[in-house]
Amino acid sequence: MLEWTPPPHRPVNTSRIVLAVCGLLASPLACSPTPAAQEPPSPRVWSTPRFDDARAWKDLETVVGIGPRPSESPGMAQMVAYLQSELTKAGLKPQLESFESEVPVTPSTPEGKLKFQNLYADLEGAAGPDSPMVIVATHMDTKFLENFVGANDGGSSTAVVLELARGFAAAAPRPVTYRFVFFDGEEAVRPFWEDPDNTYGSRHHAYELSKKRQFEHLKAMVLLDMIGDKDLKLTTEEYSTTWLREMFEKAGTEAGFGKHFAGHSQRVKDDHIPFLNLGVPVLDLIDFEYGPGNQYWHTSEDTLDKCSQESLHAIGQITLTGLLELEKKLSKP
Ligand SMILES: [Zn+2]
Repeated sequence: MLEWTPPPHRPVNTSRIVLAVCGLLASPLACSPTPAAQEPPSPRVWSTPRFDDARAWKDLETVVGIGPRPSESPGMAQMVAYLQSELTKAGLKPQLESFESEVPVTPSTPEGKLKFQNLYADLEGAAGPDSPMVIVATHMDTKFLENFVGANDGGSSTAVVLELARGFAAAAPRPVTYRFVFFDGEEAVRPFWEDPDNTYGSRHHAYELSKKRQFEHLKAMVLLDMIGDKDLKLTTEEYSTTWLREMFEKAGTEAGFGKHFAGHSQRVKDDHIPFLNLGVPVLDLIDFEYGPGNQYWHTSEDTLDKCSQESLHAIGQITLTGLLELEKKLSKP
């Protein structure tokens, strides 16, 4: 449970009113101030969202069952339709953000351009449009590779962010506004990663949001990527904002998931970078060692059997407890 201190307001001096009225009456017993009238208002208690790892695992099975999901593919269209349907069932209103971008010419992209679609859903905070805002995001596309279903890379974080969206929506209202985002086009179209051929969706979303008034309320961006690995050891991602990373590490460790913070330290370029470039505190929750020597990464070996429901449970709880700490920090007056 969380406590929330309401914004300061001018208290009405009830004791003075009571005494004045009582002075007019013969018996003071007829009108004594009640103790409750002088107590400060009780702090608001927020409910605790649930994370259902069994449901997240079923989502991951569904997503992997779609097959490859590169940008502008039938698989991506199915992916978007599934997320739209599930977010709507959760009581959210998913929004599509479509755009076209030039991309390198490759056998998969002979025209040198692609149509992208980000999907996002807002859960407005208790203070309405003035609530502080937190983005919780993943990429949903898979890399243009033969027989690549991206169980871990693209699939696992999509399943977890969807389940987080359900959990927080069911526990609304929250002290902050959440925006759950599923980015398209994180993966480079070419086999290698060379700017600007990557993070098409997050760059577009960050730029569009930066032009809107909502942007002033954006206080943090938490990204999940490659978090389904059976052997989940989160990388200490060095582009991430230190206080935010430490907040999630502390919350996750206190919740009993400390062993998952045993990864190496590394800088990883990912969908958080466009937000970092705008001055937003960011965190990339990623395990960038997938199999011995990262050997399953971007290969047809990235399959469901390399992932586990236990890892989805761990990352779900780490993210949940971290977000609850962030809510506390952001709702302090
Ligand atoms: Zn990837």
